[in-house]
Amino acid sequence: MNPHDVVLIPGDGIGPEVTDAACRILEVAAAPVTFQVYHAGLSALERDGEVLPDSTVEAIEHCGVALKGPCTTPVGEGFTSVNVQLRQRLNLFAAVRPVRNLPGVSTRFDDVDMVIIRENTEGLYSGVENQVTPDVVMSMKVATETACDRIARWGFRFATLRQRKKITVFHKANIMKLTDGLFLRCARQVHQAEYPNIEYEEVIIDAGCMKLVQDPSQFDMLLLENLYGDVVSDLCAGLVGGLGVVPGANVGEKLAVFEAVHGSAPDIAGRGVANPLALIMSSAMMLNHLAETRDDPSCRDAAERIKSGYNLALADGCLTRDLGGDLDTKEFVAALVDRIEAPAS
Ligand code: ATP
Repeated sequence: MNPHDVVLIPGDGIGPEVTDAACRILEVAAAPVTFQVYHAGLSALERDGEVLPDSTVEAIEHCGVALKGPCTTPVGEGFTSVNVQLRQRLNLFAAVRPVRNLPGVSTRFDDVDMVIIRENTEGLYSGVENQVTPDVVMSMKVATETACDRIARWGFRFATLRQRKKITVFHKANIMKLTDGLFLRCARQVHQAEYPNIEYEEVIIDAGCMKLVQDPSQFDMLLLENLYGDVVSDLCAGLVGGLGVVPGANVGEKLAVFEAVHGSAPDIAGRGVANPLALIMSSAMMLNHLAETRDDPSCRDAAERIKSGYNLALADGCLTRDLGGDLDTKEFVAALVDRIEAPAS
């Protein structure tokens, strides 16, 4: 089978450092992918005069899959977030974020194994904000039945495919009766009509956050609207070692963009100390997606080689500074390279 064309977006801040690392690991694991580099964010603004050039969007539509570093949106200059634009223009309506304990990374809990499903296209990310009077501004939270039903269906289907047992929806429908009420109603209907075999519960988000930090093992999958998904993802990252170890995928009906949950981390950009693991884990998710959607088992084999490699490295104590170790980005990549098995020839 020919290698799969994948769009690579290096991004901004630590983006180029972590995408370089991920590309090196994919190469060592003999992943059957060929990268086409396109830009988004500040680097695209400098090159092309816009933060999300049509050429980047069209390339992802053409290839179907992208690996993306974090992108920076210039603050306060009327730019809509690059990440939000990309998700909306490509209709990448579901964000999938597995949050798991890793060997060698000591944290308060040792039995965390959750998947967060975040609705990616609406809620308070609608971008509809108004100046009502000189001293009143308004931000509109949008929920549509189409999007709420779509993410609920997607979540339950994912739970079935991955043999997950329970879906918990965090909400604030006691206050936002219409918007969060609709999100809940759709999830409930999909559960009752099509997936009664999967356990389902609804938890008010403030109490849910408390439960998460008391005992995260009680959760299996979280289904969240857009802003709750953003906030709770970082909270959950903190349970397993931080933003350096949580990968992600943004998926739609046909397209998928894989990226770490973390942002461009400008405070450490260019210093060579970023943890590339979250993007490397996102690359493994990308390979599994290619294996499933293109019927190419060699992608799954490469993903397994990468996963075994980083699990071994972490268990051997090879940790970057964010995880309490002393390796820089290049040293960590070298430790992984040493532990990735050569493909059977
Ligand atoms: P954004 O608004 O794009 O999410 P941010 O600066 O608010 O960006 P992040 O970039 O996600 O948030 O990161 C928050 C902090 O976590 C960073 O300042 C950095 O110190 C740390 N961090 C994030 N990702 C990594 C990483 N891969 N390796 C090491 N530290 C990281």
